[in-house]
Amino acid sequence: MSDALKITFLGTGTSQGIPVIGSNHPVCTSNDPKDKRLRTSALVSWKDYNYAIDCGPDFRQQMLSNRVMKLDGILFTHEHSDHTAGLDDIRPFFFRQGDVPIYAHKRVADSLRRRFDYIFADENRYPGAPAVAVNLIDKDHNFSIGGLEIIPIEASHNRINVLGFRIKDFTYLTDVKTITEEEIQKVKKSKVLVINALRLEPHHSHFNLKEALAFIDEVKPETAYLTHISHMLGFHEEVEKNLPKNVHVAYDNLTITV
Ligand SMILES: [Zn+2]
Ligand SMILES: [Zn+2]
Repeated sequence: MSDALKITFLGTGTSQGIPVIGSNHPVCTSNDPKDKRLRTSALVSWKDYNYAIDCGPDFRQQMLSNRVMKLDGILFTHEHSDHTAGLDDIRPFFFRQGDVPIYAHKRVADSLRRRFDYIFADENRYPGAPAVAVNLIDKDHNFSIGGLEIIPIEASHNRINVLGFRIKDFTYLTDVKTITEEEIQKVKKSKVLVINALRLEPHHSHFNLKEALAFIDEVKPETAYLTHISHMLGFHEEVEKNLPKNVHVAYDNLTITV
């Protein structure tokens, strides 16, 4: 079993996914498999540990297509549905392993508790409902999972803050619009950075491509991967061609080792 981190991009699409239902946009009708994007999520694996970052509406499909047999926990970036709506589908892991550990900011945990009340119920639990073990996290406290230190990084997603995660030389950030100098310091010297790049046009709560590239230029990782992509960013192949050499557009089921 390797100590290296294996990252699997479970999904790289923005909230509607690509294709968008009912859309005739050329990127939505593209035959390139790299233009098909499930909602943004990643699996980080080391030794025999598997941790998911977020649990969006495509979670079941993502676990099946990547043959994930065991899940040690879920790290949540924020409460938006495209990052949380799949929580009911932890059931097979719950049945085999017991309460599934989740790591979330208090605000995010409170939102999950409201929306999935039956998962968090203390009494009169519905038979077959899954259960979670809640671990509250915030930007000021590193925590440890599977023997590794996780550094939470806070960024602004316009109306709410999100958490990203640094694990050794790997940093994963999504749904970022702005980030403070103090938090950027935590990202610096990462070898591999994952960062959101929604589209070419500006957006109120997400980096567009230009903002993502400026952030990469500031942090200077060896390699960066773009995620949380809208069909409006363009065809995978064309966007990839025009990027700096150390920047790539992530795609679903891409795996990398850090
Ligand atoms: Zn969001
Ligand atoms: Zn999102």
